[in-house]
This record gives sequence, structure tokens and C-alpha cells, in this order.
Amino acid sequence: MKIFVTRQTPGNALEELKKVHQVEIWPGPGTIPREILLKKVSGAGAIIPMLTEKIDTELFMAAGPDLKIVANYAVGFDNIDLNAARQKNIAVTNTPSRLGDSVAELTITLILALSRRIVAADRWMRQGNYVSWDPSLFLGQDLSRKTLGIVGMGTIGFEVARRADSLLGMKILYTARSQKPDAAAHNYKFISLPELLKTSDVVSLHVPLTPETHHLIDKDQLASMKPTAILINTARGPVVDETALYDALVNKKLWGAAIDVYENETGLTDDPIWWKMTKLSNIIMTPHIGSATEEARAEMTKIAVENVLAVLSGNPPINPIV
Ligand code: NAP
Repeated sequence: MKIFVTRQTPGNALEELKKVHQVEIWPGPGTIPREILLKKVSGAGAIIPMLTEKIDTELFMAAGPDLKIVANYAVGFDNIDLNAARQKNIAVTNTPSRLGDSVAELTITLILALSRRIVAADRWMRQGNYVSWDPSLFLGQDLSRKTLGIVGMGTIGFEVARRADSLLGMKILYTARSQKPDAAAHNYKFISLPELLKTSDVVSLHVPLTPETHHLIDKDQLASMKPTAILINTARGPVVDETALYDALVNKKLWGAAIDVYENETGLTDDPIWWKMTKLSNIIMTPHIGSATEEARAEMTKIAVENVLAVLSGNPPINPIV
């Protein structure tokens, strides 16, 4: 069966797949252009796309009737038109599993780095600015005994809560669509989003991008947060209204933000708001590296391959979204 993979991914699972199927991998550099993608998927029985590829009716038409599975190389699946997949009876899978650990570790890193102004201090040192110790130099904020508000208490949210609780001694509040018994067992308190935003010192976002979570954090929500609070977004860019975030940061309505994901991720350097944010010292920006560890990325390849092998051999998918 023909299988098309839109990027070379870490680990050796694709080599295993090559032993039983005819696998073609886009060699890059960069994201595969749309018109090439539409040609390459023709006749494929399986596609392993990255979150940079839009998977929609047009692509399903270009692939043709043999397509059985789209094994997305990501936890999120907001790049895929799930209704179109359902209509065509095409399985869609994601790569959850141990990514919770990797994204949680990045989130904790960002919380610590932001609260102690590590990136700004490092930049300042490299510019040769240090003269002598100063009692007011780069004052940050303690985290111990402060309140962390988790928005979205799923796999990643829970791993962030556990680490912030045990490592940093933070008090945990959370919101989700439903209460979590596991969270209650750890004394993590379920409250509404407005209450969480009002009372948290650190707010960390871990919801998927859906029509309900688009701009979940907007101008009004940001205004309801403490001016000393920090916001962390390792979920998806459009969950936050970036223009409102920029305004809040520049007007000191928010102490700081750290973001790994962007509203306009495929056209970042054409986005004037992003350029404006690069001038601020109270924001840390990372290039969507939540799951970027050797271990997690190799595991993601393995999970995507296992899903493809399962479906192409007539079994149900292991990590079904559709
Ligand atoms: P998950 O296990 O599905 O958890 C999602 C959580 O969000 C659940 O607790 C869910 O609540 C909650 N939620 C969903 N819709 C909501 C809404 N409208 N209002 C409030 N809460 C809502 O997902 P995960 O594995 O933790 O991943 C979360 C997201 O992280 C992914 O969707 C992806 O976009 C992002 N991510 C980013 C990176 C990166 O590289 N930065 C890597 C991996 C994942 P219920 O449980 O009550 O339904």
C-alpha cells in the first residue's frame, strides 16, 4: 500500500513501515507546498501529516478512494476537517501518550524562566551590561505558595499541575468541561474560568483549539487577571487573542507571558502583532517546541506508524479521533 509522510520524523519506526509498505517521505526543506502535497497523496492508503498540513475534502478528493487513515503527527488535530473524514469513512488518529510529560516540562520551564526573567537577564548579560551586584536588578516573582490556574485539565494540564504542586509548592486551581476525580484526590480545586482568571498568579492554557476555545482568552478575560499575573500558552495560538495580549503586556495590565504557539503560525513574519511582541521584554517566545524532545518525537513516529499498520491490516485504530 502507498503511504505518504509529509516530513522525515525522528526515530526509526518509519524504517519498519518501509519493510511492509511503499513509503514516500517529503524530503523538505520546510513544509510541503500545498500543490505538491495534493499530487503526492494521490493513490495513498495512509497519510502521516504534520500539524502544518490542512487535511480537508480537497485533500481527500486528491488522495482518492484507497485512503483509509490519516495518522496525524501531533496531539492536536485542529488541522483536520473531522466531518469530511467521517463522511468519507477515513480513520483519523493522533499521538497522545507521553507527550504529556514533554509539554508539561516545557510549560514548567517557561513558568520558571518568565517568573525569574531568565531570558531577558541572559540577553542583558551578553550585551556586556553587568557592572556589579544590584539589589533591584532583574527582580522576579516567587512561585512557592502562589496559585496556578490550569485551563484544560487533560493529559498535559494534569502533568503540569503535578509538577507545579510537587516541585514548586504551588496551589492548583483548574477549569475544564467536567470535574476530574483524579484532580480532587490531589486537592486541585475545580472552579469557573472567570474565578480562575481573577485569582491565579499563573494561568496556563491546555485546551484543544475548537470553535468554543477560539479566543477563550480575550481582552475582557485578560483585564480580569491580576496585573502581577503571568500567562502561559503551550496549547494553540488562537486560544488567545494576540492583539489583546500585546495590549495587556505593553500597558502592564499583565506582568508577563510565555508562548510556544501563535495565532498566525504559518505566516508569523507577516504578522505585525508578532513583530510588535518581539520588542517586548516581558514575553518569552518559543517556536512551537512543546513536544520537541528526542524521546517524545520518536515515540510520536512510533504511535503514528502503529496506527497506520493497525488500520491497513483491517484492525481498528489505536488512538482514534474519528
Ligand atoms: P486532552 O487530554 O484532550 O485535554 C484537554 C482538556 O481541555 C480537557 O480537560 C478538556 O476538558 C478541556 N477542554 C476542552 N474543551 C474545553 C472548553 N471548551 N472549555 C474548557 N475546557 C475544555 O488534551 P492534551 O493532550 O492535554 O493536549 C491539550 C492541547 O495541547 C492539545 O489539544 C494541543 O492543541 C496542545 N499541544 C501543544 C503542544 C505543543 O507543542 N505546544 C504539544 C502537544 C499538545 P474535559 O476533559 O472536561 O472534556
